[in-house]
Amino acid sequence: MEASLEDRLNSIHQRIDAAAKAANRSSEEIELVVVTKNHGYELALELLKLGESQFGENKDQEASLKAAQVAENLPSGQTAPTWHFVGQLQSNKVRSMLAYSSVLHSLDRGSLLKELAKQLAKTPEQTLEVFIELNLTDDPNRGGVELQDLTQFTEQVLAVPQLKLLGVMGVAGLDVEPAADFARILKASQEVQALSKAATFISAGMSGDFEEAIGFGATHLRIGTAITGKR
Ligand SMILES: *Cc1c(COP(=O)(O)O)cnc(C)c1O
Repeated sequence: MEASLEDRLNSIHQRIDAAAKAANRSSEEIELVVVTKNHGYELALELLKLGESQFGENKDQEASLKAAQVAENLPSGQTAPTWHFVGQLQSNKVRSMLAYSSVLHSLDRGSLLKELAKQLAKTPEQTLEVFIELNLTDDPNRGGVELQDLTQFTEQVLAVPQLKLLGVMGVAGLDVEPAADFARILKASQEVQALSKAATFISAGMSGDFEEAIGFGATHLRIGTAITGKR
């Protein structure tokens, strides 16, 4: 018999607790962002019922619709979820993303930073939490800030007061040992913390590698299919 959503979720929480314990960390400092992409808003509502409140999406069109549907169908007394945008964001989608999302994990380039600053300036009270996404590959055309540019890019982010820099984000490569990439993410995190004491967070770890990421200090796990099932 296929495991239920609740079973899969419980099993992931148990694995997070065990990995945290093995790394001498408290699982309370580790936030689970359930990546709900490719699933309808009903799944998000079910996850809310099961106690989850942090959801990740990677496409603006899908995310904005889903966030609106969840808000519309929210049971009374239920707090709305926090939407995390985790995918590559086109600059012309920034305005839309700002309407529903409070955390951007994928601040990956200067042109996106510029557009964020421009759009946020229109709503001076609004802030956005961000992670700087790292490019861990040798290919400069891949998304993410190259490690050699990290200090300079961090300074540019810190210069935008409406952006609250949480830390760094990375996706471990598929055909490399994830530990090597997680170690580089941790090192990059220390570099960023030297510029901003508050930027202590690390968004790393997905369905296939989150336990290892926990061993390297990940504070925000972005887990999709291991919880939601394949689509
Ligand atoms: C889809 C996605 C995830 C979740 O991946 P799974 O392997 O399904 O856990 C995490 N991060 C990003 C950026 C994604 O696009």
